Amino acid sequence: MAEIQIKNVAKRFGEYQALHDINLTIDDQEFMVLLGASGCGKTTLLRIICGLETATTGEVWIGGRRVDHLAPKDRGIAMVFQNYAVFPHLTVFENIGFGLRMQKLPEDEVKRRVERTAGLMHIDMLLQRYSGELSGGQRQRVAVARALAMEPDVILMDEPLSNLDALLRMEMRAELKGVLAESKTTAVYVTHDQVEAMSMADRISVMHKGKIVQAASPIEVYRNPAAEFVASFIGNPPMNFLDATSAGDGKWQVAGKVLDGPKSGGKPLQFAIRPEDLQLADDGLSARVRIVEPLGAHLLVTCDVDGALFRAVLDSDLAVKAGDTLTLAPQTDRVRWFDPGTTLAVA
Ligand code: ATP
Repeated sequence: MAEIQIKNVAKRFGEYQALHDINLTIDDQEFMVLLGASGCGKTTLLRIICGLETATTGEVWIGGRRVDHLAPKDRGIAMVFQNYAVFPHLTVFENIGFGLRMQKLPEDEVKRRVERTAGLMHIDMLLQRYSGELSGGQRQRVAVARALAMEPDVILMDEPLSNLDALLRMEMRAELKGVLAESKTTAVYVTHDQVEAMSMADRISVMHKGKIVQAASPIEVYRNPAAEFVASFIGNPPMNFLDATSAGDGKWQVAGKVLDGPKSGGKPLQFAIRPEDLQLADDGLSARVRIVEPLGAHLLVTCDVDGALFRAVLDSDLAVKAGDTLTLAPQTDRVRWFDPGTTLAVA
């Protein structure tokens, strides 16, 4: 069992508060992604879990044991960084077995683990090659195999695929997901790439300004963002927002239309809808088309709705051009409402 519990963790660097009161439980064998823009505190949180950084306040527990006073090597953790430090003058075998030999494991155990993890990462045919002779993707596999060979309870990864080209990233993310599920390791994975997060995670913790804004499954984060930040960070293009003013009990005036919504005691809200949750209809929001981008599978149409930028993803066969006026109906069960004061979702 390697559940990770982060309890009331905060981190200050001098005057700068990098993390505010983080509370998060990562289940045994769960694949948790920490997602957020540059500087939001993802790496700092990861480094606190592994012990390379000390929390200013709070506790870290792994597998039911408090670990924040333990050295990184005593926490049962392996790490893979963006700049995977694979030794070029060692063979792939020696690289993968490096930590095992440091632990003075018997040579037949080293061989067993190296061969098993190399097989998992599909680099078993490269074991005798020098790592300096490998491609970036192969070196990345060696770094992951080396971490897995330690048979850690927990594996922590910080942007491990960011040095790879787009195609290799896509291949590796699918493979990594499979390998980690098979190895039954609890994984925490840092990225600023929402596609990587959506495709790999069991759960995503969306971070913003040193806080976790939402921790939920990818589909939950996508469909039911808990805050405006999540709605605008996840999804490409992001959610559309329009000002909404109360038009009576549970009725809202949005861009000249009256829509059903939550009861908010009369204070204004933000109406939000994803571009793919809009359809052409006879009744709906009036949208003046500014740009049409045919993207093959669909049309991305950028419009002006009541003076606001508004995007719709529409059927690629539609004949739409700049200057047209469309009537776009939001799919009612996909509409979200946010309180502009707190920026949080309103039920
Ligand atoms: P990126 O995706 O760019 O790596 P991140 O979300 O991982 O960003 P962190 O590296 O955790 O962000 O940094 C969070 C904040 O803390 C940043 O504003 C950073 O400048 C600051 N910070 C990180 N390490 C230190 C340090 N050793 N001293 C002072 N400030 C630091």
